[in-house]
Amino acid sequence: MNPYTIFSEIIAGQAEASTVYEDDDVLAFMDIRPVTPGHLLVIPKVPARSLAELDPALGGKLFQVGQRLAAALRASEVNCDGVNFFLADGVTAGQEVFHVHLHVIPRTPGDGFGLRARPTSPRRADLDYLAGSIRGVLEQEAGNS
Ligand code: AMP
Repeated sequence: MNPYTIFSEIIAGQAEASTVYEDDDVLAFMDIRPVTPGHLLVIPKVPARSLAELDPALGGKLFQVGQRLAAALRASEVNCDGVNFFLADGVTAGQEVFHVHLHVIPRTPGDGFGLRARPTSPRRADLDYLAGSIRGVLEQEAGNS
């Protein structure tokens, strides 16, 4: 799959963006279709299509920059009583641009943003079963490294 997306063009300076932060690894800019005013995107400069392709150190950096941006949003002229981080990994998760990006979304009361979900009430045994499965994968990974 072609790793080149509109975000690659923004990084290369070939498409316009309203930038708020840039360093050697990361770029942050205004989302062109904000769900609330001040909605930002933080992206790695390398074109990782998914979390699986993203260097974990760079993933940490995305979060770090997101934290700084959350503080900047609260201190700026943007209306911001709270902040949501959102990251869609994969089509089913709602990913539309295949270059990893962290949404930083300023929140105000009644702004209309929300996740639709149907929380369930599984038994502890079911939670423990899935926890064991996930732990197993992590332990296997640790054993392979
Ligand atoms: P996602 O659904 O998580 O893949 O989100 C993709 C996001 O990229 C959407 O919120 C879009 O509005 C945003 N987007 C797409 N093209 C641009 C662009 N040229 N500049 C800024 N944001 C963009």
